[in-house]
Amino acid sequence: MAENVSIEILYKLQKIDSDLGKLEKQIAEFPEAIKEIETEIEKAKNALDERHEQLKKLQLKHKEQEVELRTQETKISEAKDKMFKVKTNQEYHALQKELEIMRNEKEGVEDGILSVLEEMEGFEKEMRRNDKGLSDFKSQKEREIKKLKAELEDMPKRIEQLKAEREQLKSQLPKELADLYERLLAYRASVAIVTVIDGVCQGCNMAIPPQLYNLVLRNESVYTCPSCQRILYPVELLHVESA
Ligand SMILES: [Zn+2]
Repeated sequence: MAENVSIEILYKLQKIDSDLGKLEKQIAEFPEAIKEIETEIEKAKNALDERHEQLKKLQLKHKEQEVELRTQETKISEAKDKMFKVKTNQEYHALQKELEIMRNEKEGVEDGILSVLEEMEGFEKEMRRNDKGLSDFKSQKEREIKKLKAELEDMPKRIEQLKAEREQLKSQLPKELADLYERLLAYRASVAIVTVIDGVCQGCNMAIPPQLYNLVLRNESVYTCPSCQRILYPVELLHVESA
């Protein structure tokens, strides 16, 4: 294969310009991505806070039930005391009936306490699991944010480096080639140089004429695609490079 330094420089230039394009896109997108992750964390935290709030309500209900139970017990023991002081059978039976009602009520309160305790136990187990889940989720997401922020912070420096490299490469090109490259970059969606695979331009997917393809493969000069005008880079050069 004949020596064609220009095409290699152009190929490197395109690589740099593609990287620059990616970096600029990321600079625009990363802050939004970071915000989205922060919102995700916030949402997960709020959902869990809500469950904690529900648990608190349940705990409060349990406390109220305990108070109710003690009230009920006091009433029962007062009724029992009264039974020693009654004078008539009638009064005695009336009190007995009252006491039975109170005992039934007390049983009802106790059943309520048991079911709330059971619910609380399940709840607390769930919360322990969820708290652990949230803290894992949060640290994973925070690592993601940290990574994005670090990359973002590094970007201006990387862009500057790439731009310097770009200028250095461009200065090695004949002026008309450098100008052609810049024109194509501006008018061909930031892709000025494309590979040719089996005679097909990878920029526009058109087959190039066989005699032109042969010239491209001989790589003695720089050729452009008749349909999209982009500079053609024979993919065989890549194979040589990676060998
Ligand atoms: Zn083309």
